[in-house]
Amino acid sequence: MKKIFLSFICFQIIVFSQQVELYGIAQPGNALIGKAENLAQVMLNDKILQFDKEGVFTFGFDRDAKGIHLLKIKYTNGKSEIKKFDLPNREYDIQKITSTKQQFTGPPKEELPRIEREREIMRKARSRIGIIDTAYFASGFMLPIENAKITGVFGSQRIINETPQNIHNGLDYAAPIGTDVFSMADGIVQLAGDNFYYNGNFVLIDHGQGLSSIYLHLNKLSVTTGEYVTKGQKIGEVGTTGRSTGPHLHWGVNWFNSKIDPHSLIGIGF
Ligand SMILES: [Zn+2]
Repeated sequence: MKKIFLSFICFQIIVFSQQVELYGIAQPGNALIGKAENLAQVMLNDKILQFDKEGVFTFGFDRDAKGIHLLKIKYTNGKSEIKKFDLPNREYDIQKITSTKQQFTGPPKEELPRIEREREIMRKARSRIGIIDTAYFASGFMLPIENAKITGVFGSQRIINETPQNIHNGLDYAAPIGTDVFSMADGIVQLAGDNFYYNGNFVLIDHGQGLSSIYLHLNKLSVTTGEYVTKGQKIGEVGTTGRSTGPHLHWGVNWFNSKIDPHSLIGIGF
């Protein structure tokens, strides 16, 4: 009798629990994963989110996101749920430097048409991201490099002689030339870039639903545009191509245009 009673309770929970499960921490620069059954619609503020047939979806908060954000979920039975995120402030590593050394003043004029061409190729590749509903990222995430030291953190910025430099939207790992670089998750290579002025040789991977990762300054590429890759597959080797001062991997993550701290995905377990 007891056994029957217990299984009846479990049955009730499975059938009537209509609660989204969220994985990750809601703070600026972080991406989260959500999972729920019987989804009809998911929105973050006014943006409709994609979800796959397993009810898996993702969303992120930009480096500079602030204040209150609402995740609004509608279920196929007409019920709905709202999750409220009040984002905490996040401090970034901002360094003010006074230097008499001559600063990088921009690329030489003759490189400008090339840079413009490359920017257009990149824009086109990025515009293809967000079309795929499949949650390739459901493979889970891993670091793209082994035993490497972090030499640049997410969101940092240097202000040299009162001039703000570009914000560092990724992580840098110092490693010898030739060190293997792996895809952080399953996905489709949207662009295997060949010797771009800034990025050097690089790989841009679409993990579905607007989540993408990029790996810059590679010495060698092991994949081509359009190829399907799996988590942990070798995609290239560390190098110092493009605008780089020494052998390192720059690893960046985006959710659409929001800059995401790649570390927010590691160990997210869902
Ligand atoms: Zn970097």
